[in-house]
Amino acid sequence: GNILRRRKIVVMGSRSVGKSSLVKQFIEHHFADQYHPTIETEFQKVVNYRGVDFECEIVDTAGQDEYSLMSSKYVIGVHGYILVYSVTSRNSFNMVQNVYNKILDFGGTEAVPCVIVGSKTDLESSSPNRQIEQSEGEKLAQQNHAAWVETSAKDNVNIAQVFELCIAEIEKGSDRNLKP
Ligand code: GDP
Repeated sequence: GNILRRRKIVVMGSRSVGKSSLVKQFIEHHFADQYHPTIETEFQKVVNYRGVDFECEIVDTAGQDEYSLMSSKYVIGVHGYILVYSVTSRNSFNMVQNVYNKILDFGGTEAVPCVIVGSKTDLESSSPNRQIEQSEGEKLAQQNHAAWVETSAKDNVNIAQVFELCIAEIEKGSDRNLKP
């Protein structure tokens, strides 16, 4: 049969780390240098993973800081998360753990399907320089049982992989749920 697999994915992280640019590059295949703060936008896209079509609802959030309160709309009915930091911002890197902890606290769970994304790698040799090494990103992901990848929305590097990794993490979880 033709089962439609719907998956809701929420994109979170500090403001201006490139969440909207990531989603726009994935959905609309373009990049804009101008910064337009997002309120909140939802997109739909079919992602094929291992020969299976997933109808993805992607929620691009306004961005979080240490004072943001978690909202039930970012937890209830959500299958997976994309948590973005910029490789040029230590503060945004620290925010990933902060947001992840809030998701777990709110949901009362020990882990959620998640991809941690280090964005703006094209800026690595310009100013501001890279502040977060790859090894730090990998370690953060391991500690939180998450996938990890570095991207450039500007150069369209690893953008589709982010969403494939997210589906992969979500599907890992559903495998676990099938076990007795
Ligand atoms: P958001 O607030 O997290 O949604 O961030 P935006 O996607 O609006 O991006 C914030 C700023 O960073 C904008 O000026 C973007 O053009 C810029 N930006 C986003 N992604 C990249 C990237 O991969 N490379 C570079 N050089 N700039 C980026």
